[in-house]
Amino acid sequence: NPVVAVVGRPNVGKSTIFNRIAGERISIVEDTPGVTRDRIYAHGEWLGKDFNLIDTGGIEISDQPFMTQIKQQAEIAIDEADVIIFLVDIKTGITDADEQVAQILYRSNTPVVLAVNKVDNPELRSQVYDFYSLGFGDPYAVSGIHGIGIGDLLDAVINNFPDEIAQEEDDSIRFSLIGRPNVGKSSLVNAILGENRVIVSDIAGTTRDAIDTKFTAADGAKFTMVDTAGMKKRGKIYENTEKYAMLRAMRAIDNSDIVLVVLNADEGIREQDKRIAGYAHEAGRGVIIVVNKWDLVTNKNTQTLKSFENIIRQEFQYLSYAPIVFVSAETKQRLIKLPVLIQQVYDHHTKRVQSATLNDVLMDAIAANPTPTQNNKRLRVFYATQVAIQPPTFIIFVNDPDLMHFSYQRYLENQIRESFDFTGTPIHLIIRQRK
Ligand code: GDP
Repeated sequence: NPVVAVVGRPNVGKSTIFNRIAGERISIVEDTPGVTRDRIYAHGEWLGKDFNLIDTGGIEISDQPFMTQIKQQAEIAIDEADVIIFLVDIKTGITDADEQVAQILYRSNTPVVLAVNKVDNPELRSQVYDFYSLGFGDPYAVSGIHGIGIGDLLDAVINNFPDEIAQEEDDSIRFSLIGRPNVGKSSLVNAILGENRVIVSDIAGTTRDAIDTKFTAADGAKFTMVDTAGMKKRGKIYENTEKYAMLRAMRAIDNSDIVLVVLNADEGIREQDKRIAGYAHEAGRGVIIVVNKWDLVTNKNTQTLKSFENIIRQEFQYLSYAPIVFVSAETKQRLIKLPVLIQQVYDHHTKRVQSATLNDVLMDAIAANPTPTQNNKRLRVFYATQVAIQPPTFIIFVNDPDLMHFSYQRYLENQIRESFDFTGTPIHLIIRQRK
């Protein structure tokens, strides 16, 4: 999907505009521990076009003076976005900081749509023309608070989307490596590509730099490693900020079937690891936990691996379905196993089970462990069917969904998991009343 970034100095109203555009989509379906509520990344949709939205204002680059931060945010927008919404404020007019942002945006080829915020009433409209002098063409008058002018602004934004690129016939499995800075993602990218045969694409010169790399494994299976360029790009000040790492992770998750959550064996598990893993889980992708730098763990004995695994299981309870592998980008230990594992998780993630077998499993489960009752009313399960893959999603028809106790649902989920092997993928159960 195209990426739209909102830039502008503090207090022009970036998050208000961001929330207006993202709308209800921003609400969170699940409550995964550790996932922050302050979003800087969301999905948007206008006139049937989907896009991803970034609020660069949420990326704080600590220890940097005010002007540097604003400039860095503009640079992130140029690096990440297909279209930039440059937001200014009618109440203050053009400020020095606005000029600075404009200077940076001039130098890029990314299309810029200028939006003048806080035009809360029609009398202010005439002042909007002052902003022509910024040199980005027609300014769009908007009010984030009142939701005025957003439609016209989005019309202009989608008019600037890159032409859709003819998609290559692609039967490869798309995966990405995510994790906080320095866990060894780039090293792993290089090591994995070094062990496999990289396919050079003959479709050159797409609108954005070629960020995906295709390769075939020893057994002939085809893979696309998502966002390899993003991981190899180095040396920008903002590289190591937490929010930027999150942004990259979320984009990579969006573009992948399977996500490898990379941890650093040498440093253990940090809060940021949990947030990143939480997003992968919420997105419903297949997940593999990769513990890198295993070579740095000294005095290993038979218990070392097991106890590390226990810690991971404890810290990432919601990822209980994810397999764990211990690797080293440095010594290449166990890297050869990764493609096979990714393939397996993908097979589970796209698995379809037959309704007859599924219902047999459920009926056996219910026979072994009777359904719960509430106020003398017993839950009755009639029928289940799989309605989607990626992740596998099942509808279970019952007499009254309110009688489906959380723990009983968990039990049924586990029975389905065990019977069909869904290692590596979340599965979703939808409980419906039979009409
Ligand atoms: P990224 O920020 O996650 O992409 O991390 P990098 O790939 O840049 O790695 C950060 C540092 O860890 C670099 O100095 C790497 O050489 C080092 N490193 C990465 N993987 C390993 C590993 O498996 N073992 C050891 N000993 N060092 C590693």
